[in-house]
Amino acid sequence: MTAETTASDVWSFAVERRSDPASAEARAAILADPAFGQAFTDHMVVANWSVEQGWFDQKVTAYAPLRVSPAAAVLHYAQEIFEGLKAYRHADGSVWAFRPERNAARFAASAQRLALPQLPEGAFVAALRALVTADEPWVPSAADGETSLYLRPYMIATEAALSVRPSHEVLFGVIASPAGPYFDTGPRPVSIWLTTSTIRATPGGTGAAKCGGNYAASLAGLAEAVANGCEQVAFVEAVEHKWLEEIGSMNMFFVYADGRVVTPELSGSILAGVTRASVLELAAELGHPVEERQISADEWKDGVRSGEITEVFASGTAAVITPIGRLAWPEGDLTIGDHSVDHGVGPVTRQIRSALLDLQYGRVPDTRGWLTRLA
Ligand SMILES: *Cc1c(COP(=O)(O)O)cnc(C)c1O
Repeated sequence: MTAETTASDVWSFAVERRSDPASAEARAAILADPAFGQAFTDHMVVANWSVEQGWFDQKVTAYAPLRVSPAAAVLHYAQEIFEGLKAYRHADGSVWAFRPERNAARFAASAQRLALPQLPEGAFVAALRALVTADEPWVPSAADGETSLYLRPYMIATEAALSVRPSHEVLFGVIASPAGPYFDTGPRPVSIWLTTSTIRATPGGTGAAKCGGNYAASLAGLAEAVANGCEQVAFVEAVEHKWLEEIGSMNMFFVYADGRVVTPELSGSILAGVTRASVLELAAELGHPVEERQISADEWKDGVRSGEITEVFASGTAAVITPIGRLAWPEGDLTIGDHSVDHGVGPVTRQIRSALLDLQYGRVPDTRGWLTRLA
């Protein structure tokens, strides 16, 4: 098969069920209190690609360590991309993904930027469906409202060759991990350290791609935040060190006293979150004028001081909507919002968060066609 004929194939997956799946008791114990990204399901998806063969050996198989050469390009040159989305169980037992075609499109764009091969159209969602079907009992029940099965597609350069060029061999995989609510006690405001000494992404760089290298580049900033008593870090852009970009691995939103909801415009070094796009649509429908524009760190500080900015939150698949309750930087420290009511979660943050979760868990009708059934 050539890469050309493979590209138009609809993927089907060989299913190699493991003979030693977790017992029902062991699985129930994990599902009762899943920590984020700690426990994994019985199976995983893998598929291989080479320049000569295109994609081959697509399968669902036992979750197990990969065999990769110590010379694999990914280990040295970080030729790697990934995605993150969730499978939500609805009250009738069915299992759904939220706008997975957006993750598929972003995965394709990330692959292009990192000089990795494209998956055939439809393979991304087919892979999610194959894994969720095999590990369906691992999708938490709808009863507790905010648990889900987190899905992690990824692609890595596996060729054992230290020459610097796009790898001739690649592995695509999907793993799955039961995920509880990000905050056991309901959402609570987190503290943010504003760093200007660490830059996450640069113009022309990989900031808009979902790749491991961006995360590696963000960790020193996160460590700086923790050393300064904060939980997360906010990054500004690389040129003027003035305009806000992202909070950790989440997009950021500002709520103004007049009801406006503002987020930094996609500059080329900001990751285009699926949650971000959905928040913009839902906020507008809820009657909030929305703005995508440049917003400076000074506007954030001044707005909080003057009372013009009343709420700040971050958005991303893993934590959904995370309220921001404090902003600190080398010369200052500000409290955001009224921490004496509703655990410090502002009304607009709460409203948008509920609207999103209600859609994802099928508690309101999916009038936009945002849900895709997986099982
Ligand atoms: C994944 C990611 C986000 C959030 O994207 P969602 O599609 O909403 O989960 C935001 N910023 C960065 C850097 C990311 O990698």
